[in-house]
Amino acid sequence: MGEASNGVGGVDNTFRKKFDREEYLQRARERQEKEAEGQGKSKARGPPVQRKPLKQRDYHVDLESRLGKTQVVTPVAPLSQQAGYYCSVCECVVKDSANYLDHINGKKHQRALGMSMRVERASLEQVQQRFESLKKRKDPGSFSEQDFDERILKQQLEEEERKRERREKKKEKKREKTVEEEPEEDPDVAALMGFGGFRTSKK
Ligand SMILES: [Zn+2]
Repeated sequence: MGEASNGVGGVDNTFRKKFDREEYLQRARERQEKEAEGQGKSKARGPPVQRKPLKQRDYHVDLESRLGKTQVVTPVAPLSQQAGYYCSVCECVVKDSANYLDHINGKKHQRALGMSMRVERASLEQVQQRFESLKKRKDPGSFSEQDFDERILKQQLEEEERKRERREKKKEKKREKTVEEEPEEDPDVAALMGFGGFRTSKK
């Protein structure tokens, strides 16, 4: 306001931003360089992405944990809490177990996990090793079955121990009861009835 009100020779409108040619040329060059760099990178990565071959699942597929349970389902709930099987990798819900298995074995899901649908060709050694490990598993004297027997034995022993403890507790309770009841009977009456001898023998 100040300049305009006391300006005798009018408003100075000759001011213009000087176009610094050199500066903008420099900026343009930098931008071009950056773009060229980015293109180079994307070309190096290449469109045909090398995915890993298909490999065996190393986790248990949980299909039964929610079987027979009741759950309130609302359409506004997060996907993972909606009716059906939720895939956290693809963030989708599949309606039943068969379709869920199809999904996690399917191309889209495997691709999301970084695997192609190609299976690695096994070498002769790998096949032989596999046979060996399967044979060991079937062997009756194997570790796993021994382990199983031991576990059963341990469980039986624990069960017996528990039963014994329960019996002892019952006995103790009975003893406590009789101890509590005894003072209630009149010693004189007991003596009259000839029960005095019983009590002393008990104690
Ligand atoms: Zn999936």
